[in-house]
Amino acid sequence: MADAAPLGDTPPGFRSGFVGLVGKPNVGKSTILNAYLDRKVSIISSKPQTTRQRILGVLTRDNAQVVFLDSPGWHEPKDVMGRYMLTSARNVMEEADVLVVVLDATTGIEQEDEWVFDQVRKLGHPVLLALNKADAVKKPLMLPLLEQCAAMNLFADLIPMSALRGENLDELLKQIIARLPEGPRWYEAHQLTDQPTEQVIREFIREAALQATRQEVPHSVAVRLDEMTEKERITVIRATILVEREGQKAIIIGKGGLMLKHIGVQARLELERWLGRRVFLELWVKVIGPWRQDSAMLRELGYEG
Ligand code: GDP
Ligand code: MG
Repeated sequence: MADAAPLGDTPPGFRSGFVGLVGKPNVGKSTILNAYLDRKVSIISSKPQTTRQRILGVLTRDNAQVVFLDSPGWHEPKDVMGRYMLTSARNVMEEADVLVVVLDATTGIEQEDEWVFDQVRKLGHPVLLALNKADAVKKPLMLPLLEQCAAMNLFADLIPMSALRGENLDELLKQIIARLPEGPRWYEAHQLTDQPTEQVIREFIREAALQATRQEVPHSVAVRLDEMTEKERITVIRATILVEREGQKAIIIGKGGLMLKHIGVQARLELERWLGRRVFLELWVKVIGPWRQDSAMLRELGYEG
């Protein structure tokens, strides 16, 4: 990739490359990435379009370095934000050496999946199919689905798995590594992601807000980091949750401020885990109008193409 340079010595036969996780929203792409890294580098929720931009996650083993590229799910863009998300999902496909298409085995192949398959077919990269959420599928239903997928002649291998339970992650990884070119390490072995700390902080706060709200509220939330100061024993973080309308602000704050308090606690726990130190988190809420339609605001919020 353009912004990385080879690092250090690697043993003969070492493989490395970029692996794109693609698929429609909510199939478990980010959960798979986090399961491999054993850390949350990409935020998760049960709401579609939780991931808004390309998230890079690095898995370093003795024989290989796999650089995962998580991406927003494929969906019809409805606003400037949606177009931005689709562009970053497409870029992931083009940059990758191997693509892992993720399918939600509980729903089977839907129209949006077909569309992803068509896009992937055009690219001509090696493609693996991960049939995720196998834990929630009855065994007799998996077999016909596997047959249906195999008949498409698109996938180099089909791997039923569960990111949630950690089932068959090793098998998928083996198949991925086998298809990577020989190459150097691109990232230090201890590096998990290329996201700046500021972005990780904003994402964890957004995740807590997303998980606590419903309907259109999750899509309307963005986070601005106002302050991060490392004190001797504690990191002080001040941030503002930005929403589009007054009604959304009222929901985020909640009765007597309870919702905002809950969001703050959840976010703080994740931040403490990530930063490895105690965090004092202060959250504010502000209405900024329809930012998803506004490319200047998108840029200001860190969503730049
Ligand atoms: P993404 O939009 O494709 O990145 O999907 P996420 O990783 O955000 O996951 C969407 C939802 O699916 C979340 O509620 C996850 O907990 C759930 N999920 C992910 N993997 C699994 C799995 O293996 N089994 C089950 N039952 N649920 C899963
Ligand atoms: Mg995601």
